[in-house]
Amino acid sequence: MNLADIQAAVGLRTPIRHQLFIDGRFVDAESGETQATLNPHDNSVIAEVAMAGHTDVDKAVAAATKAFPAWSRMAAADRGRILLKLADLIEANAEELARLESLDTGHPLRDSRNLDVPRTAACFRYFGGMADKLQGDVVPVEVGFLNYLLREPLGVVGQVVPWNFPLMFTSWKMGPALAAGNTIVLKPAEITPLSTLKIAELMSEAGMPDGVVNIVPGLGSVAGQYIAEHPGIAKIAFTGSTATGRRIVQASAGNLKKVQLELGGKGANIVFDDANLLAAVNGSAWAIFHNQGQACIAGSRLVLHERIADEFLDKFITLAKSIKLGNPLDASTEMGPLTSRMHRDRVLAYVDVAREQGGEVLAGGKGPSASDLANGCYVEPTIVKARSFKDRVAQEEVFGPFVTVLTFKDDAEAMQIANSTDYGLGSGLWTRDLQRAHKMARDMHAGMVWINSYKRVNPGSPFGGVGQSGYGREMGFEAMREYTQVKSVWVNVDAQIPPWYPRA
Ligand code: NAP
Ligand code: MG
Repeated sequence: MNLADIQAAVGLRTPIRHQLFIDGRFVDAESGETQATLNPHDNSVIAEVAMAGHTDVDKAVAAATKAFPAWSRMAAADRGRILLKLADLIEANAEELARLESLDTGHPLRDSRNLDVPRTAACFRYFGGMADKLQGDVVPVEVGFLNYLLREPLGVVGQVVPWNFPLMFTSWKMGPALAAGNTIVLKPAEITPLSTLKIAELMSEAGMPDGVVNIVPGLGSVAGQYIAEHPGIAKIAFTGSTATGRRIVQASAGNLKKVQLELGGKGANIVFDDANLLAAVNGSAWAIFHNQGQACIAGSRLVLHERIADEFLDKFITLAKSIKLGNPLDASTEMGPLTSRMHRDRVLAYVDVAREQGGEVLAGGKGPSASDLANGCYVEPTIVKARSFKDRVAQEEVFGPFVTVLTFKDDAEAMQIANSTDYGLGSGLWTRDLQRAHKMARDMHAGMVWINSYKRVNPGSPFGGVGQSGYGREMGFEAMREYTQVKSVWVNVDAQIPPWYPRA
């Protein structure tokens, strides 16, 4: 099928964008190189997408550098207005964006429609409103001096995003950076560039000046690495694996870029014996199976009090087995395919890793048998009981619909398990005991804790991790601070300063 036929087949009204977006225009890569982006439902080719090389990144940085003075000096409210307009356009094109995201990533349409697109619009709207809310400060210094603090944008920022929530992460990254007055060179993941390119189109429509936002799909090892190294880029913000995060830190050293990292996680989701069991079962399924488990904050370690473990698992396994796997573009699908074949294989390999260490597969552990899903990257909801919290499946991020079950006897053991990994991103707990809940929240080595819920996000609430889950925070006022630097300005109003040197 050609691109126009695919477009029609999935109900898209407008062309699928597949070129780089530099200085306000869609252009081919200088080298002419392209790479196919696939539909993970059946691994058919959707589009050949231009792949940026060094020259293209250089052009994008040049465009962003040229656009920076005017954009950063524009009235903050006017920058905000463009982001607010973009949020409206995202809502006006909601179905288009939802279908495109489902096609390219495998997100079930009900997720793309109900979560990805509304959250993307909400994020741009939040930061549109935030643009003129971040204020400087005045410091009460010595008599006779006025010391004020300016919050200034950094300049050109590089942003590298992964394939698990491409649309939503585009807004998490670009919203605060743009509101604060920075210009951007963003690289989407090579396997999921389509929704980000569509956002670029809508940005132009919203009145974004040329060069403020540049999108350079390409290989991480080429375009991503070059962005991290680039001397013209003041900061790099990255979401992805911890291993790549380390590489980015090293690459950033050349010009001492500011770095912000949102890396992997191995979320502990603890269920105490006094929890509302039904709420905990439903919430724990959401924690791991939403988006096929491809979430850094997934509740991928299910830590159960031994008194309720059997009853909980009974209900949880029944729920997991009832989840409807299918074509993401079918509105009744609850779980789609993983986003790539390579990743599907990686996730399934962990089933063997679990068995080798004495783990027991309680559900799933394989692809579905339905013939219409045979060519896709599907994995059944998988529940594995591990022997120890030290096992690989209890320590390493699987990033799929794969949950590792562990049990505990008392609060101290629950906390020991929760804090036993190098990661520290999201975590959760289910209990009716108020004191225990707050105590656990205090002691958990994590950037986010959910009590009697899991995986809540909001544009106003800081998102990020500790330990090997990275540093820096997305969203909220924190994100605006991450994309600005403080300048301290001293004014001698009427200070009595001796002529040269204070004499005793
Ligand atoms: P990854 O390699 O970290 O990829 C994330 C992004 O970084 C992609 O855009 C990637 O480009 C780019 N990249 C790769 N190497 C780079 C480099 N040397 N310099 C700059 N950018 C580079 O993640 P992955 O390989 O796709 O996934 C592997 C694992 O990472 C997953 O299984 C999961 O454990 C973790 N992960 C975590 C998150 C999260 O939300 N925290 C998201 C995705 C993955 P390409 O497009 O070429 O890959
Ligand atoms: Mg794809």
